[in-house]
Amino acid sequence: MAEDWDMYVDWNPWHGCTKISAGCLHCYVFRQDEMYSAPTRSDIIRKTANFNLPVKRRRDKTYKIASHKVIFTCFTSDFLHPDADSWRQECWDMIRQRSDCIFYFFTKRIDRMAECLPSDWGNGYPNVMVGCTVENQAMADLRLPIFLQLPICHKSIMAAPILSDINLRPYLSSEIEEVAVSGESGVNARVCDYNWVLNIRQQCIENDIAFRFHQTGAFFLKDGRTYRIHRKHQLSQAHKANIDYKIGRYFVPETIKFPWPDDTYHPGKDLSE
Ligand code: SF4
Repeated sequence: MAEDWDMYVDWNPWHGCTKISAGCLHCYVFRQDEMYSAPTRSDIIRKTANFNLPVKRRRDKTYKIASHKVIFTCFTSDFLHPDADSWRQECWDMIRQRSDCIFYFFTKRIDRMAECLPSDWGNGYPNVMVGCTVENQAMADLRLPIFLQLPICHKSIMAAPILSDINLRPYLSSEIEEVAVSGESGVNARVCDYNWVLNIRQQCIENDIAFRFHQTGAFFLKDGRTYRIHRKHQLSQAHKANIDYKIGRYFVPETIKFPWPDDTYHPGKDLSE
C-alpha cells in the first residue's frame, strides 16, 4: 500500500467523550489527555478551535482544505455523542458545502444516527462514510442490525479494539464496503489474537468484502506467543502480515471511487461559489 498521506486531513470539531462499552476502557482520548495533562476533563465535551476547519479559507479565498481530501472526522470524540447535539447541524452544513471531500467518521453510538441526521439527508450524503465500531460479539449483535437499516451511502465495519472472536457473517451484506480490524494500543492494552483477525478475514473473503488488518495493537498473540509491539510499529506490522483483501492504496475503500474521476461525482453544488 503506497499511501499518499497528503490526501488525509483530521477534523475534530469537538473533543472529549464518555465511555459506553467495553471497547472504551482504555480509550486513547483519555490516555492522550492524561499524557499531555489536559486542563479539562476528558469526559467534558467541548468545541475545538478547529470547529469550522472544512470551510476555513486562506487570504486568497481558497479553502484551507483542498478538494478531494479524505477528512477523518471527530476522532477525539464520537460524532454522535449526545452532548454535541446542538453543534452537529452546523457540521452537516459544512459537510454538505464541502461535497468535494469525503468525510469519514467512526461511531460506537450508531443507535443515535437516525435522530442525528439533517433534514435533507435523504438516502445519505454521497460524501459521507460511516464506520460502525464493534469490539466483541455482543456489540456486533447490538449495533450492526441498526447500522444495516440506516440510509448511509458508504458503510464500513471497524472491529476495534478487537476483544474476542466475532462472527460478522449475519451482517456482511453487499452494502458493507470494508471491514477493518485493529488491536488495542497503550500499556494496559488487551491482547489481540491473530486467530480472531484471520477469522474475520475469512468471513470477508467468503462474502467478497474488502478486509483490512489495520493495526496489531500493543499485545499481539500469534502461534501461542504474545508479542509486545511498539506503537510506531503497530500499523506496519499489520501491513507486513499481508492479509488484506481487496484493499487498494487508500484508507477508504476503492468502492468509494477516490480520487473522483470527474466533477459529475459531486453530490451537490458548492454553496460557497
Ligand atoms: S466512544 Fe470512542 S472516543 Fe468515546 S470513549 Fe469510547 S472509544 Fe473513546
